[in-house]
Amino acid sequence: MRNHATNTTFKASWKYSEAPESTDHIQIKKQYDLYIDGNFVKPVKGKYVDTINPSNDKKIAGVAEASAEDVDLAVKAARRAFKSWSNLSGRERGKYVFRIARLIQERAREFAVIESLDGGKPIRESRDIDIPLAANHFFYYAGWADKLAYAFPNRHPKPIGVAGQIIPWNFPLLMAAWKIAPALATGNTVVLKPAETTPLTALKLAEVIQQCGLPKGVVNIITGAGETGASIVNHPDVDKIAFTGSTEVGKYIQKATAGTHKKLTLELGGKGANIIFEDAAIDQAVEGIINAIFFNQGHVCCAGSRLFVQESAADLVIRKLKDRIDTLIIGDPLDKNTDIGAINSKKQLETIQNYIAIGLKEGAEIYQPKCTLPKTGNWCAPTLFLNVSQSHRIVQEEIFGPVLVIQTFRTIDEVIEKANNTPYGLSAGVWTQKGSKIFHLTQNLNAGVVWANTFNKFDPTSPFGGYKESGYGREGGLHGLKPYVKFD
Ligand code: NAP
Ligand code: MG
Repeated sequence: MRNHATNTTFKASWKYSEAPESTDHIQIKKQYDLYIDGNFVKPVKGKYVDTINPSNDKKIAGVAEASAEDVDLAVKAARRAFKSWSNLSGRERGKYVFRIARLIQERAREFAVIESLDGGKPIRESRDIDIPLAANHFFYYAGWADKLAYAFPNRHPKPIGVAGQIIPWNFPLLMAAWKIAPALATGNTVVLKPAETTPLTALKLAEVIQQCGLPKGVVNIITGAGETGASIVNHPDVDKIAFTGSTEVGKYIQKATAGTHKKLTLELGGKGANIIFEDAAIDQAVEGIINAIFFNQGHVCCAGSRLFVQESAADLVIRKLKDRIDTLIIGDPLDKNTDIGAINSKKQLETIQNYIAIGLKEGAEIYQPKCTLPKTGNWCAPTLFLNVSQSHRIVQEEIFGPVLVIQTFRTIDEVIEKANNTPYGLSAGVWTQKGSKIFHLTQNLNAGVVWANTFNKFDPTSPFGGYKESGYGREGGLHGLKPYVKFD
């Protein structure tokens, strides 16, 4: 093993001044209606619910709750728009998708602030990751719109029809982009439902879509909770369902669409293994572990939430990891220095706290930094669990929060077996200096994405998706076009 410095001096107690991003430049209405057929319309039943800022429990805006009647109006609008939209040349369709990308870029700062206000994620992440990636996704698929014949040579791809798209709260605008961009590029029309706790950037996207002159009915954005999602899934005139969310709801949707004409793609949960070998560049690996689990408070389907450290390097890695998490800045999502923002909802905070209690009850050893958490809002300290084994519930089940479980291993075969011993198969990470080890692991780990000496890297040109209970179908890249086309 190489000689590593055994002490890290993170504890230099740097003090950061407050660096809050301003909110002067954003516009949020008091109340939002449903975006159907090119207009913002009141929900049939007149019901609105509040969307809350999870960092201070304050109401941000009222948001319409779509009933089955509203879903029906949205699906009908999408059906009416389908004929002309699908007959438009790819070149013309591409122009609209390109325009959406440009407008997101122009309004990136506003989108970033609203994403952090509504969902609790650090502004640094929404500003540098969520919003630029969302714009890039539209740019990328705009480029495919007039090249579908090259994407599927000699196969004459045709759009499927009306796509019902349901997304979660962890990357609200980015997930909307993942869904809408390939659907439009291929000539489909859309009814999209954001999650109940984070509807605002999807509604801002509706404004952008209206502004860019997309023909009415091509994209409809309707807000509401699980029942609204179920109404989309069960609507007889929807041709395709694209769902990102929990495995539990994914299974329900799979049953609900079984035996119907509806095509289905599911992007579900995960419990990603992050594997550190003794020959890895340890300091980089420690940063990688931190990023893998604490990015977006751990509300990441592909988070590296199970750490496997080679036994010979375990003491060093764990010591450095503890030093590093002591320095993480937890607090105001709008502060540019913040590393860990607010937990998205009270419900999710309860889920995480419940898992922490289960871990303690199962006899695992806990480590949390001595940080002061804000008094109001939803907060959870970054958490490490040591002395865990494969049978612990905190090792098997997705926590979807800033909680890392740490195990050790001795051999490659052992770690492959342990990493694959999960119902999920979404992501994994490998840290080693040896290319041959990387190739061996990428071939033997059952995960849709395996990162080597990095983690949580996303690119619109690269397909993303799962195996086993993490779902099926791919989003991103050339592969992401396929769920939106049919062949003669
Ligand atoms: P969720 O409870 O399954 O919700 C996802 C979406 O489905 C929300 O819009 C939700 O609405 C809606 N929904 C709830 N019940 C429904 C039903 N019966 N029929 C149709 N739609 C329904 O998941 P979540 O808690 O929001 O998100 C976290 C999960 O998403 C995690 O498991 C995570 O791993 C997974 N995820 C996966 C990926 C991926 O690409 N594989 C990406 C991100 C997240 P409301 O929220 O309004 O109730
Ligand atoms: Mg909210």
